[in-house]
Amino acid sequence: MPELPEVETVRRTLTKLVKGKKVEQVEVTWPKIIKKPDDTEAFGMLLHGQEIQHIGRRGKFLTFQLNDYVLVSHLRMEGKYEMGDGSAPDKHTHVRFFFSDGTELRYKDVRKFGTMHLFPKGEETSAQPLSQLGPEPFEDPTFTSDYLKETFQSTSRDVKTVLLDQRAVAGLGNIYVDEALFKAGIRPDTKAALLSNSKIAALHDKVVETIRNAVLKGGSSVRSYVNGNGEMGLFQLELHVYGRQGEGCTVCGSEIIKTVVAGRGTHYCSSCQPEIVALKGK
Ligand SMILES: [Zn+2]
Repeated sequence: MPELPEVETVRRTLTKLVKGKKVEQVEVTWPKIIKKPDDTEAFGMLLHGQEIQHIGRRGKFLTFQLNDYVLVSHLRMEGKYEMGDGSAPDKHTHVRFFFSDGTELRYKDVRKFGTMHLFPKGEETSAQPLSQLGPEPFEDPTFTSDYLKETFQSTSRDVKTVLLDQRAVAGLGNIYVDEALFKAGIRPDTKAALLSNSKIAALHDKVVETIRNAVLKGGSSVRSYVNGNGEMGLFQLELHVYGRQGEGCTVCGSEIIKTVVAGRGTHYCSSCQPEIVALKGK
């Protein structure tokens, strides 16, 4: 699933490709992707004549800012955007946006889990799916070490589960949580409330650093993820634990362990990320 850096890469690429284009017609062949409005015909009618003024991002959501509406799009597992090349669309193309200049943007999704919500401009932030998102670990001054401390204090959950919760922090997913926890030296199944202030500060810095670095590298392409221009992200070359189970730790040489935390495949170094069971301060 694309995380913040991949979605940010898609956002930047799409901006170059479709900013300023005017929607003339929309064709939806898998209606379940359109969550709002209920009716795909209304979806197409509302979009008719709308110009893409800006493409933003909130967490893992793309926000296409149009004249009167905002289209909120989530790629989920395998969704991707692609410019039409004049060929017949394949069976994984579910939404087609035809522009007044004769070009076309296609939304493709092998798993069909992606979603699109269309809101009158200004209403998108106060309704699901954006309304409950937490602060961003990228270019958001409200994501601070103190914020994390407050979030961790009031939960009995483990630290990985909290970081994956989009209401706590928006945009993180399995890859970058594993990587940031490795860099901060925190085992993913550690109870968040047990973390010391210095560990929380280190974690905050490593989350921000990991995400910033991944955005710079255009994200990862561990699975089938390819960004809007068909380029592969380069961050996968820098992964320390994710997908490296059985291999040696890049810092100490110990074996990278794979286990399950928060219902997700989880990777960590048994030496660099020791278990914490004692109460903090003891
Ligand atoms: Zn290690």
